[in-house]
Amino acid sequence: MDFSQTLTNKSDAIVEQWVKAVYQDEEIEATKELTFKAVRNSLPRVLKALATVLSESEKSDLQTVVDASLEHGLLRAEQGFEPAEIAREYRLLRFVIFAFLEEDLLKASPVELLRAVRLIDTVIDEAIARCFNSYTHGRLQELEQLQGQLRLTNQELTRLVRASQDSLSQLAHELKTPLTSIIGYADLFLRQQRQNPQLKDSASNLQSIERVMKSGRLILRLINDTLEISRYDAGRMILQPTATDVRELINSVVEIIEPLALNKELSLIIDCDRAPNQVTTDPLRVQQILTNLLSNAIRYTDSGTVHLQCYQESEQNWAISITDTGLGISSDAQTKIFQPYFRAVNQQPQDSHGTGLGLAIVSRLVQLLHGEIKVVSQLGKGSTFTVILPL
Ligand code: ADP
Repeated sequence: MDFSQTLTNKSDAIVEQWVKAVYQDEEIEATKELTFKAVRNSLPRVLKALATVLSESEKSDLQTVVDASLEHGLLRAEQGFEPAEIAREYRLLRFVIFAFLEEDLLKASPVELLRAVRLIDTVIDEAIARCFNSYTHGRLQELEQLQGQLRLTNQELTRLVRASQDSLSQLAHELKTPLTSIIGYADLFLRQQRQNPQLKDSASNLQSIERVMKSGRLILRLINDTLEISRYDAGRMILQPTATDVRELINSVVEIIEPLALNKELSLIIDCDRAPNQVTTDPLRVQQILTNLLSNAIRYTDSGTVHLQCYQESEQNWAISITDTGLGISSDAQTKIFQPYFRAVNQQPQDSHGTGLGLAIVSRLVQLLHGEIKVVSQLGKGSTFTVILPL
């Protein structure tokens, strides 16, 4: 009696019945997330393989069942089946197959019947074993992937923790110099006062007080600038875009900055001929950017000019460029100037009280405004900083 023929003949009906049983079974929860087609997917192949093995001529060839079951196991692993759900799926298959073969089996002799039942059981058991095998393999692969992702996340977290430790120790280092100066000069002032209480406003006392004040201001700036950067890095810097008159905005900054240029006898040229009249931006943030760039241009220029140009750069963008005839920045330093606390060591003017945070803040503000900042510079010749912003 050739049961495989019956299985093959009725395979469509068996598969449909089987898929329906699997799909509707309350104990197989994984199917709730899947379509009927997704559940059906590899079942016809498993059944065809079973039929092939059950046919007497090929009964020793288990390879087809092995292959089909391996594929089935991998698919079920991907679909999130639990092992118990897969076992249940095969139990339903056994049930459906016997229901379809019942009529034929009842006509067979007891020997034939026993042989058929044993064969079907053996083949289904083999299929289950193979299916579990590849299921485990699929799950292991998934675990390995997850482990890889976790390793990356861990690396990133370690990097972040180290970076914040680094910037904290950098800040502490930056605070050390002005604090040492405050303590030193305050101590000197006190000693002089004790030695000669009449000399309240002697020149050296005034100088000490002045230096204490300067260092105090520097510490305050360092703290404010660091807070500004950490506000940005924590995503807590919020933009307030409004329709802004570009010329008015630039004038308001120039008014504040001009005395610095006059002090150093630098000529400050402002060219807004090609500037757009109005843009939508956060005027306070743009003011902050311009103040930083203009005061740097003046700080790092001993003689010559500081030239500000504002113009419409394209249909979408406007730009402000600030060119100075100052110290310039080496190409190596150009790659670092936007990092917090970086200062080109050999180029610091005597009276520079820079924090190394100005450009770090500027680049963050430009990013926040969806813009771009570029620098072109040559040592000894000067620098041009260009900020491009959306109109
Ligand atoms: P700082 O408070 O030191 O000026 P910034 O972040 O504003 O900090 O600038 C970082 C460094 O970049 C400066 O210390 C200086 O070496 C260099 N730099 C910035 N602007 C200019 C410029 N216009 N000309 C030459 N060097 C500059």
